[in-house]
Amino acid sequence: MYQTRFMKQAAAAAAVNLTQQDGGPFGCVIVKDGAVVATGHNRVLADCDPTAHGEVVALRAAGAALGTHDLGGCELYTNAMPCPMCLAAIMWANIRVVYYGNTAADAAAIGFRDAAMYDFIEHHLQGDALTLVQHDRGLTLPVFEAYKKASHQLY
Ligand SMILES: [Zn+2]
Repeated sequence: MYQTRFMKQAAAAAAVNLTQQDGGPFGCVIVKDGAVVATGHNRVLADCDPTAHGEVVALRAAGAALGTHDLGGCELYTNAMPCPMCLAAIMWANIRVVYYGNTAADAAAIGFRDAAMYDFIEHHLQGDALTLVQHDRGLTLPVFEAYKKASHQLY
């Protein structure tokens, strides 16, 4: 299976943090037409960036490498089931195929909090993990209306 070659590379990217300690043991490879476009490993600690998950790092690198925000036609390989943030980022990038190794339960078993986020989403955005309140829509809607009226590019 050709996928094993790329999953080995994702696992190797994750293993970087066993010695470098840029963040958690998470790595990602983005592939287009059978060739690696970008790799990334978790850099949350090194960059003081809570969004610097391996997938996000790789998505940013792939966008820069290909010169587009649209990564349609790419496949993404990650050593662990993407967290909700990364799943959404992957969908924003128009990537349709993701291969992952470890499960969210595997990540929870080593102390990561993905399970609490999936729980929050499954319970319709209610729970102790985050307070989410709609407020002052009248103040925020006019920019949306002006944007639509001006016919900007959608993505
Ligand atoms: Zn993530």
